[in-house]
Amino acid sequence: MSISIEKLEDDLKQLRLVETAGELANILRNAEKESLTYRELILKITSYELGKRDERNIAKRLKWAKFPYMKTLSDFDLTKQESLTKRQLKELEELSWLEQMFNIVLLGPPGAGKTHLAIGIGLEAIQKGFQVIFISMGELVNMLKTEEYVRSSQVQLNRIRKSDLLIIDDLMYMAMDQREANLLFHLINHLYERSSIILTSNKSPEQWVELIGDEGITTAILDRLLHRVEVINLNNDSYRMKHRESIFTDKSVQS
Ligand code: ADP
Ligand code: MG
Repeated sequence: MSISIEKLEDDLKQLRLVETAGELANILRNAEKESLTYRELILKITSYELGKRDERNIAKRLKWAKFPYMKTLSDFDLTKQESLTKRQLKELEELSWLEQMFNIVLLGPPGAGKTHLAIGIGLEAIQKGFQVIFISMGELVNMLKTEEYVRSSQVQLNRIRKSDLLIIDDLMYMAMDQREANLLFHLINHLYERSSIILTSNKSPEQWVELIGDEGITTAILDRLLHRVEVINLNNDSYRMKHRESIFTDKSVQS
């Protein structure tokens, strides 16, 4: 009995193996050419479908993560950042801290590479199957304040609460009032020992107290954030300043 390719494609689609359905003719042709065994052929089919699903999942998580720009850890130049060793960078990249739900605080002046490093780690985590969300402190506070009546805030906060890694960029760039600090506390408390947080800040944790205002809430937030944490100081000269582009073609004008 000859079985038409269309019939097989239809069946695959009904089984929701849509990717394989589209590729079936090629898969069969190659199987004949390479004289695959039955098992090898089935493995080809299952791994093709699973590979495509992985790709789709990564693309979806990348979209949800909302990175402001894409910078990888391999773009991160350690010769420009002497306060981080090659070994530390490798440990960050291996993500065992994420599996153990450690937090990371990245400190340093503007341009030190905090955001770049955080995005690089986030991209790595997405590739390895984790759910990651990137958000600036300002946006986060705003989302928390509007959660009750803004649908997009609800959606993104639900993702944040379910994420494996939340990156909060530029913590404490602003002073918070009591209500904002409370909302932030509840979120941090929810994530505590459930996910990892990366915080970037150009202020040291001692200065965070002044910015949050209420000392009780600040202590409660810091307790949870700093309970299992790696603090990394990126405190050499600003990379941005050294590598800035200039509107002047005559370089001597700048110096
Ligand atoms: P920060 O968040 O600390 O203010 P960024 O991470 O935004 O600084 O870095 C500013 C710019 O400089 C970015 O374009 C970033 O890619 C680049 N940069 C900073 N440090 C490095 C580094 N060590 N290697 C490569 N690029 C860097
Ligand atoms: Mg930054």
